[in-house]
Amino acid sequence: MTQVILPGATLGVLGGGQLGRMFCTAARSMGYQLVVMDPDSDSPAGAIADRHICADYTDKAALDQLAEACDVITTEFENIPAASLNHLARSTRVYPDAKALEIAQHRAREKAFARQAGLQPAPYHLISSDDDIAAAFASIGAPAILKSATLGYDGKGQAVITSEQTLFDAFQNMGGVECVLEQKIDIETEISIIVARNHEGDSGCFPAAENVHVNGVLHTSAVPAKVSTQMTELAEQQATSLAEALDYVGILAVEFFISAQGELLFNEMAPRPHNSGHYTKDACVTSQFEQQTRMICGLPVGDTRLTSPVVMVNMLGDLWQPDWMHILGESNIKLHLYGKKQARPGRKMGHFNVLAESVEVAFATAESVFAKLTS
Ligand code: ATP
Ligand code: MG
Repeated sequence: MTQVILPGATLGVLGGGQLGRMFCTAARSMGYQLVVMDPDSDSPAGAIADRHICADYTDKAALDQLAEACDVITTEFENIPAASLNHLARSTRVYPDAKALEIAQHRAREKAFARQAGLQPAPYHLISSDDDIAAAFASIGAPAILKSATLGYDGKGQAVITSEQTLFDAFQNMGGVECVLEQKIDIETEISIIVARNHEGDSGCFPAAENVHVNGVLHTSAVPAKVSTQMTELAEQQATSLAEALDYVGILAVEFFISAQGELLFNEMAPRPHNSGHYTKDACVTSQFEQQTRMICGLPVGDTRLTSPVVMVNMLGDLWQPDWMHILGESNIKLHLYGKKQARPGRKMGHFNVLAESVEVAFATAESVFAKLTS
């Protein structure tokens, strides 16, 4: 199982969203064939793959077809059932493996694993039933954030907690599903590290991105991040330790908070390329999607060096239909659209990368262009 998978081979991806689409584009330009499995007949990645297996992730016959067609299979979506990955792994290579996804699918498992690997999560307490509420509130206090343990994304399934009563109400509102109560951190800066690792254990980190969220959704990522070199080195070391502890193969994104007190806290990880790594498409020697291809195919880690300061701006369905000339009229902006036909509020439709001589100049352009798109 150690030989490399060379161009001409067929790569599979579970999940047909924009991350799968950008993976397909990168892998195809390197000469690979692509098969996407996704239950949506209209998926962004399915539309551009060589083949789209339109089926549920639990459909064993469809999984068998995917395994039959592919030399290696990866994921772009962390909520693929572990049983499906284990099923595929009986007949083909699957990276990342079911264990990594199972850990990332559950906030409490993820935080406990990160802590064991030497990272420091924000203080948290698992709440499985009403009986846990008093102890959780006593240990975490207020302000806090209640998050559903599974299936949260873009800040969904979260509530701000100010008292034991609001905790009780919020837990009921979430339908009594398993949750974690987290201390609300006084955040100075949010950064993320994208680490790549192949089956030989060779790894490399992309430069830290400094992330700004609006309404719980990533709005901008800027690189270089305005944090000390010691802090980015520590974050890189921690992200690499996490990948090693998981014996991870593929792309792993690790989100951190830097608190007002200067602590580096682990927030969460994503076992796939990440929105905050989209800047790599235009501002690094290797993009996170080429890197994903390299890692699952057992190729050397691509050069992660930054080639230009950059600010990435997300475009959500709220601002549709934009006047594209505001973006395309600027020679230093790269536009990326995901081919989604329906624009819903909050839905990620595309992003643009502004390249400039400094992050400050890139931000000035990004802000003026974004203001025109939304006016
Ligand atoms: P995404 O899918 O966008 O990564 P998510 O739904 O998994 O989001 P989190 O990353 O847990 O959610 O939280 C989204 C944002 O909410 C964080 O990036 C941060 O800005 C804020 N946030 C989350 N947890 C805390 C916390 N404990 N203290 C302060 N702010 C927080
Ligand atoms: Mg997050």
